[in-house]
Amino acid sequence: MSEILVVAELSEGGVRKATHSAIACARRINELSGGTFSILVLGGPGTKAAAAQLTGFGAARVLSCEDASLGNYLAERYAPVVASAAQGFQVVVGTASSYGKDLLPRVAARLDAAYAADCSDVVSKAGKLAYKRPMFAGNAYGFCTLDTPQQVVSVRQSEFDPAQPTSGQSPVSDVALTPPGAAAQRIEFVSLEQVKSERPELAEARVVVSGGRALKDQFFQVIEPLANSLGAAIGASRAACDAGYAPGDFQVGQTGKVVAPELYIAIGISGAIQHIAGMKSSKTIVAINKDAEAPIFQIADYGLVADLFQAVPELVSALEARKKK
Ligand SMILES: Cc1cc2nc3c(=O)[nH]c(=O)nc-3n(C[C@H](O)[C@H](O)[C@H](O)COP(=O)(O)OP(=O)(O)OC[C@H]3O[C@@H](n4cnc5c(N)ncnc54)[C@H](O)[C@@H]3O)c2cc1C
Repeated sequence: MSEILVVAELSEGGVRKATHSAIACARRINELSGGTFSILVLGGPGTKAAAAQLTGFGAARVLSCEDASLGNYLAERYAPVVASAAQGFQVVVGTASSYGKDLLPRVAARLDAAYAADCSDVVSKAGKLAYKRPMFAGNAYGFCTLDTPQQVVSVRQSEFDPAQPTSGQSPVSDVALTPPGAAAQRIEFVSLEQVKSERPELAEARVVVSGGRALKDQFFQVIEPLANSLGAAIGASRAACDAGYAPGDFQVGQTGKVVAPELYIAIGISGAIQHIAGMKSSKTIVAINKDAEAPIFQIADYGLVADLFQAVPELVSALEARKKK
């Protein structure tokens, strides 16, 4: 039997979709080994209201920790609260978003628990939970089992479909704020600089239009009209980010974001394994590249061998003309 604690992720008072993938993983673990799951929601003012948004997902309990000192995320403040709330739970689950990647290893260290990062599935092997994890830039997958009494797991959002609401309501209870330790006192929140965008979040978008090094300083000039036309998020290869054509948080791949949209359009991207590691689970992949031998065509469902500077504006015109019909 596994009692599981899901760590929710909030943004501006709302629950991020990433949380629902962690709930889906918790439900899967319960199917495999029995037990129940609870959800921990922590943050500043408005956290209780956010916790109320999670009462319809089949959790045994929703635990809420609302305190002004948690208003701005700092791993050093959050980790002690999660570790304290995790007492009595065998598995702590979160999503491998930037938040989860930052917070969960610290929680594992505090609990002296083994940690499986970026899991894409969980199965039962010889009566133990076995977590499927990518290796060698996603070219191979391995299963790992964790032998500590408590386990901490982060899951790939793209591999766990968001949990749907169930009937019934979970009770909400407050958990006490853990006094910040010495580490938290050495750190101070200064400011958060956030790029506000009307676009969907890259990791959650149904359509992603990604550009590579080939776009040079015309990256936005070429990619943005297509993304606007499709209501898509914008992604980029690492080469495009490193060259400064696109911001670093647009990067898709092994060392960037992992995405699995309905439609992924790769424009002027060669298809290096490190890029493919971040988008190969996309349902439909379209590639535009002038080199017919580019590796991206090996995984593309639709490929266009063409000069992007000509093909992309033509595609945008065709899409806009179709909308007017
Ligand atoms: C440890 C490590 C981690 C990495 N992590 C990542 C990662 O997370 N994400 C990532 O993307 N990369 C990552 N990389 C880098 C990766 O190996 C590649 O270097 C990078 O993906 C290449 O980016 P690109 O395809 O944009 O550029 P290039 O390899 O330069 O390819 C440009 C492509 O554009 C095409 N092209 C050029 N002009 C035109 C035109 N006018 N019209 C149409 N097509 C054109 C070319 O034919 C070519 O295929 C990592 C590398 C390492 C070593």
